[in-house]
Amino acid sequence: MTVLANRESQLLIDGKLVAGSGGSFETVNPATEEVLGVAADATADDMGRAIEAARRAFDETDWSTDTDLRVRCLRQLQAALKEHIEELREITIGEVGAPRMLTSAAQLEGPVDDLSFCADTAESYEWNTDLGVASPMGIKTRRRLAREAVGVVGAITPWNFPHQINLAKIGPALAAGNTIVLKPAPDTPWCAAAVGELIAEHTDIPPGVVNIVTSSDHGVGALLSKDPRVDMVSFTGSTATGRSVMADGAATIKKVFLELGGKSAFLVLDDADLAAACSMSAFTASMHAGQGCAITTRLVVPRARYDEAVEAAAATMGGLKPGDPQDAGTICGPLISARQRDRVQGYLDSAIDEGGKFAVGGGRPADRDTGFFIEPTVIAGLDNDAKVSREEIFGPVLTVIAHDGDDDAVRIANDSAYGLSGTVFSADEERANRVAARMRVGTVNINGGVWYSADMPFGGYKQSGLGREMGLAGFEEYLEIKAIATAV
Ligand code: NAD
Repeated sequence: MTVLANRESQLLIDGKLVAGSGGSFETVNPATEEVLGVAADATADDMGRAIEAARRAFDETDWSTDTDLRVRCLRQLQAALKEHIEELREITIGEVGAPRMLTSAAQLEGPVDDLSFCADTAESYEWNTDLGVASPMGIKTRRRLAREAVGVVGAITPWNFPHQINLAKIGPALAAGNTIVLKPAPDTPWCAAAVGELIAEHTDIPPGVVNIVTSSDHGVGALLSKDPRVDMVSFTGSTATGRSVMADGAATIKKVFLELGGKSAFLVLDDADLAAACSMSAFTASMHAGQGCAITTRLVVPRARYDEAVEAAAATMGGLKPGDPQDAGTICGPLISARQRDRVQGYLDSAIDEGGKFAVGGGRPADRDTGFFIEPTVIAGLDNDAKVSREEIFGPVLTVIAHDGDDDAVRIANDSAYGLSGTVFSADEERANRVAARMRVGTVNINGGVWYSADMPFGGYKQSGLGREMGLAGFEEYLEIKAIATAV
């Protein structure tokens, strides 16, 4: 397979690489605005065929019960991805605008490595549990639990970390015995289509077990939430779309697993190294142009040292000029599209309208007139009620908010519709732990700790989602439990 030479990607339906019935649509390099090539544009009929194939593969083959086959196929997929890692890297940098540096981590190599965790978990998992003999209602009974695959999984994914999110759904869903139809974001079709090609050409994954359906039409993805042949929808994207996926799934009482947006807080307690903490916060908020759901975009600092904190954050962000994602030193690349860049600019304008100030940044970089770039921006002078403090911006934007002590910092962190992630910095680890325990979020970083790894579950409280991705919890999302009672 030569991924890069493939200027017209295809769908994977029922084990075959096929054209889209809707023709094709363009995929664009966000750093240059050049059209990279085209992807197959699926219609509702194509999606119907993909769902049918996944249904048949689940109902009529032994995929869901043959753990050895699944483990072998997952290891083959991982080997094929590794063998083609350099082509995949070029696609990822070109199509996503992901800085090259991040492709050795969560943008590519991290999720490929993590497929081992899925295969290992399937191999060692306790699929059956003996609960022993008891006499409920006076009837002597041997009880056991069997874990079984949910069935056909519809996976719908966003563009910001396509391999991370596509593989964190494909891996555990297959390991658990499901079949899957993946509908990636229209902005990054090639990242998903390349995985489809590798599956078709380099693995024994049976026809229909994985189907990859690229489409320019969001409505084609919505069919997954509505179709009665789909048992579960695993969705990552915005909270607004997640709400509509949940509503669509309600008609057939689908299992719905949601990884949604965030507005996470970085709490600097009054005993912390303020300059180091603020600098790390600014660095994190600039990475991949801020297009990460768990990025801490509210920097919450002691009121007495507010100006100093703004200055430290601005000094770091001012040094992180938006750059060519091809360059090894770039941290902040482009936003995914002109639409997204304009949306971020709208938020920056709202900060000024509400009385805020830019300590650095505030718009498009003067030295880049092509590409969807925005300068890393520090907003000062606003509180937690401002629009930029409440809504997810998904750009390289950090809002600095003052707190009046630990209780107030926790109050501000939790005063959000979201609950995805958070950070606490303190010289006293016990104090940081007490604050972390009060944060209503799914992941917490204390003093720079990293929660991203294959065996750590990731997900959100409140409107940041339902369920957990990765780790054992992420694998078990794709399982049902059957309780079996035998009279003895
Ligand atoms: P989005 O919600 O616009 O789109 C996500 C996916 O949903 C795309 O594939 C899109 O085609 C599809 N879609 C759109 N409308 C649909 C509908 N009505 N029914 C079914 N599918 C539909 O999100 P985006 O702009 O692509 O990505 C950015 C968002 O994703 C941010 O809000 C970010 O926080 C979130 N995100 C969350 C996580 C997480 O793990 N919590 C990870 C990454 C991104």
